[in-house]
Amino acid sequence: MSAPRTMDEALTPSADAGWVLVGDGADVLRESSRESRFSISNGFLGVRGAQAINLASSWAPPPRTYLAGLFDASGAAGFAPTLAPAPNWLRVGISVRGLSSAGRSLEAPPERLTLDMRRGVLLGDFGHAAGEGLPGLRARALRLVSLSERAIGLQLIELEAWAEEVEITLEAGFAGVNLGLTLERMDADLGIWRTQHSGQSVAIAAAAALRIDGEIVTPTRRGALQWSWTWRSAPGQVACFERLVAIQRGEAGGVGPGAGALATLGGAQRVGWRGVLAGHEAAWSDRWALGGVDVRGDGAAQTALRFAVYHLTGAPDPTCDRVSIGARALTGDDYGGHVFWDTEIFLLPFYTYTWPAAARALLMYRFHTLGAARAKAAALGWRGALYAWESADTGAEATPDQVVGPDRQVIDVLCGKQEQHISADIAYAVWQYWQVTGDDPFLIEAGAEILLETARFWVSRAALEGDGQRHIRGVIGPDEYHMTIDDNAFTNVMARWNLRRAIEVAAVMRELWPADWTRLSARLGLTEDELGDWKGVADTLVSGFDPKTGLYEQFEGYFALEDIDLADYAGRSVPMDVVLGRARTQQSQVIKQADVVALLALLPEEFPPGAAATNFDHYARRCGHGSSLSRALHGLAAARLGRAEEALGFFRQSAGIDLADAHVAIAGGVHIAALGGDWQMAVLGFGGLSPLPGGVALNPRLPASWESLAFAFQWRGRGLRIRIDQAQDVVDATLLAGEPMTLTVAGTPHALAAGLTIRVAAGAQTPCPASIIA
Ligand code: BGC
Repeated sequence: MSAPRTMDEALTPSADAGWVLVGDGADVLRESSRESRFSISNGFLGVRGAQAINLASSWAPPPRTYLAGLFDASGAAGFAPTLAPAPNWLRVGISVRGLSSAGRSLEAPPERLTLDMRRGVLLGDFGHAAGEGLPGLRARALRLVSLSERAIGLQLIELEAWAEEVEITLEAGFAGVNLGLTLERMDADLGIWRTQHSGQSVAIAAAAALRIDGEIVTPTRRGALQWSWTWRSAPGQVACFERLVAIQRGEAGGVGPGAGALATLGGAQRVGWRGVLAGHEAAWSDRWALGGVDVRGDGAAQTALRFAVYHLTGAPDPTCDRVSIGARALTGDDYGGHVFWDTEIFLLPFYTYTWPAAARALLMYRFHTLGAARAKAAALGWRGALYAWESADTGAEATPDQVVGPDRQVIDVLCGKQEQHISADIAYAVWQYWQVTGDDPFLIEAGAEILLETARFWVSRAALEGDGQRHIRGVIGPDEYHMTIDDNAFTNVMARWNLRRAIEVAAVMRELWPADWTRLSARLGLTEDELGDWKGVADTLVSGFDPKTGLYEQFEGYFALEDIDLADYAGRSVPMDVVLGRARTQQSQVIKQADVVALLALLPEEFPPGAAATNFDHYARRCGHGSSLSRALHGLAAARLGRAEEALGFFRQSAGIDLADAHVAIAGGVHIAALGGDWQMAVLGFGGLSPLPGGVALNPRLPASWESLAFAFQWRGRGLRIRIDQAQDVVDATLLAGEPMTLTVAGTPHALAAGLTIRVAAGAQTPCPASIIA
């Protein structure tokens, strides 16, 4: 579909109901969760989905805008930097015949909000019937933050009054008071604000115009970033308001961002709102072609995957490698914009397979924060790099030391010191990225250093004890209900894997890029002697695996804890640590989220035949899913075990977190990690996509209700499109572009050549020769 040319086309949602989410009217109780769900974002700017027109509702908050990387701390000791909201660039006030939009008669207008995921825009439609001395009024609105030019925001409002001739005033301005920003300068077209403590600045350049019946109208008042128009409206007359903004962030002490914002705005003005909208929609269309997932036979799953890919597409900024994605992306305040393992473990697979430039930028953020990770390790008495459990702008540890728990008691948070698997998680994402993309320059420039420095941390961390084995004591695994534990299987096996990959990458570099290796090892002071010790460390690190039972013990002493049957608590509406209390939970086998199951999802090869199911069954029963991250990894593991229906249950629960607002609070932003997990369950789980040394494998196992599953991915510079058809038990695979390659489907390798689609058997049971179908 071509880009809209008229205002009416721009303001009309996509006709296909499968691409839109609709919210009718105002719902005081659910308003803030809808705001999260209906957020628009481009990875640099994120705007919550508050009412598009915000005509009246005195209780409704304005749409909050976030800028990636705009962090500020309170200045008081113990406060970590958190995302500072930007000034509200969407503020509009409308009054009719002197009746202010905040006045009684216009209160709580029934507004329809439509999130058009295909186009990446939020649309509003507000109709106010004539009556009680008021004219009939209809307002329609659009807002977007451009995916093709990330500094640009666009707002369109079309107003139509009918019934009788009335006087309308439309005022447009900015609001930024009390949001932690200090106004530094305000000109006609440019405002500059500064964060109070970190000294970062934000510049917003803006241009606004009103047209009545196509003719531009001069504002009756014009101030700094403020405009006001008053006109007498004739019945049926249409007034169109348009506002373009360019937003730029400036680092403390750096060159002011004002000139850049004005220049970017100038570019946007030259193409006009139609050009901005066209570029934005084209960028969304490209991303849907590369990252979209199509499911037939299960409308709910299709909606869930569209919603997931919509938010995943808006979360990263591939053009900036100094920021990463916070636990709620740019859609809300929870966790202050901090970056967790969520990014590397739950989000990176989507980017690595469908948007390598975004994956690379996210990993480069970790490379740029290596210094802070080294400093953290050193401060705690270890070597190498220990990444922050919660990371903000500099990569320094941003986990709060204390929080108020669900019972309103102040509790100590030990994750910043003890949740150390983060270093191995980042190493894991680096390796996966390199395997899938073949991006050698990244490995040489940054990835190898991350792998080596995290490995070095584990060597110093895993202490050799009297039993001749190495132990990692005093940690927290993914299951945060159990603190200060010893030999967490997830941490230890991931650390061992980290060490082995570091040894491998050193060997690869030594052989393929000896000059780079000499430089890197010299810079890190990494001698052959030091490296020579790493294999022994990896081989003697306890894993907690018992070959007799086939079980990993989640941590030392776990099996001796109280075994609580979670079936007795079915139907509970609060997490298990609230039900049992913290003390009893810690003494029980109840776990917060996938832990050994997380290991199974990430490193299935660490589970001997049969052990995968044994561990899954043992731990899934003990998991309370107290984190939104938990179900996705269970679903992925279950799908790989061939239990498609069980996996589908996890998929539906995970997908419902944000879409149904049923499990946990979503007022503070969408659970982007769960959304990344939804994509993983579909593509890596049901599709069975996994990397092989010389190609990729597909092992499809769709739920019975899924007639087909189609997705695209990239592998080492090649673009592929896959369609799995359940009824015919076939896979259609197309190599869209790139060198010939091997795709292994259900264990059988097939040659793929560019421009051809082959059809092959989807199941190992029904071998059939590949046929070229297009
Ligand atoms: C989970 C962590 C997660 C964090 C941010 C916590 O509740 O236990 O695993 O990283 O939330 O999503």
